Amino acid sequence: MATNRTFTMLKPDAVEKGHIGAILEKISASGFRIVAMKLTQMTKADAEEFYAIHNERPFFGELVEYMTRGPIVAAVLEKDNAVEDFRTLIGATNPADAAEGTIRKMFADSISENAVHGSDSDDNAAIESAFHFAGRDMF
Ligand code: GDP
Ligand code: MG
Repeated sequence: MATNRTFTMLKPDAVEKGHIGAILEKISASGFRIVAMKLTQMTKADAEEFYAIHNERPFFGELVEYMTRGPIVAAVLEKDNAVEDFRTLIGATNPADAAEGTIRKMFADSISENAVHGSDSDDNAAIESAFHFAGRDMF
């Protein structure tokens, strides 16, 4: 059974460009309730662990560099069918392939700097939420 929570990060490019407010507005307008949120910056070790599944990929070093270069907004979101619906809302990994109206289409410039993260499964949503938040900081 699908759980009703997912984990997101507004990535360094989105924060640098001043898109926090606009992206959160779109997330809220799409029916997601924010149950945890903070501005934080990942260390190299954090990013290497968070993205460990990609550690053999040619872009891994670039990904770690990007994700650690400035603050991110980390958040846990609640909605029925949260994981799948949020992946639909953010759009394809490459913004060039993302549907009109999706967050990546609106706010991202490239496959590497694509503005936002969304968990890809309920299990990963739980793991990624726990990576960034203590239980008492999720409402
Ligand atoms: P996601 O689940 O849609 O975020 O995509 P993936 O899990 O496939 O990749 C994780 C993240 O790695 C993406 O969101 C991008 O920031 C980055 N990434 C993916 N593919 C590439 C690539 O070909 N080149 C670079 N530089 N970064 C990539
Ligand atoms: Mg992924």
